Amino acid sequence: KLGNATAKAELGRATWKYFHTVMARFPEKPTEDQQEALRSYIHLFARLYPCGECAEHFQQHLTKYPPQVSSRKVAAGWGCFIHNEVNAMLEKPEFDCSKLGAYYDCGCAEDEEGEDE
Ligand code: FAD
Repeated sequence: KLGNATAKAELGRATWKYFHTVMARFPEKPTEDQQEALRSYIHLFARLYPCGECAEHFQQHLTKYPPQVSSRKVAAGWGCFIHNEVNAMLEKPEFDCSKLGAYYDCGCAEDEEGEDE
């Protein structure tokens, strides 16, 4: 079933890219409402993830390591950590979270600084 495995991996890569970009763009000083939005989003994301067995595993990870949403830095760090938990489960190498930096720059900085596109 190589086709299935390839499709699952491709969905995973696209999703992680999006997932980490959401964290990288989360406000540095989020309001209570923004924190609650991210927390809810992560739980719904886990429930609705299209690969059923992945969704099940990921929800178990969330129970063990609840989303951390107090700031952009904390959320991005938590996202990196939880992805590493999935990496470990799949026997993939651990990603160095100190290297997150500009890794998930979406080119959306103009939203913040009025920078030209
Ligand atoms: P990926 O893990 O897809 O990572 C993509 C890129 O992100 C890497 O190349 C690297 O540049 C970067 N990266 C790696 N680790 C981190 C990190 N910790 N923080 C930030 N960036 C990082 N597959 C299964 O077979 N079984 C499952 O149960 C399963 N559960 C999943 C649950 C979720 C929520 C998601 C999103 C995916 C899941 N997958 C699962 C897919 C799996 O995680 C991979 O996406 C897929 O196997 C492709 O792996 P990859 O080696 O290309 O790198």
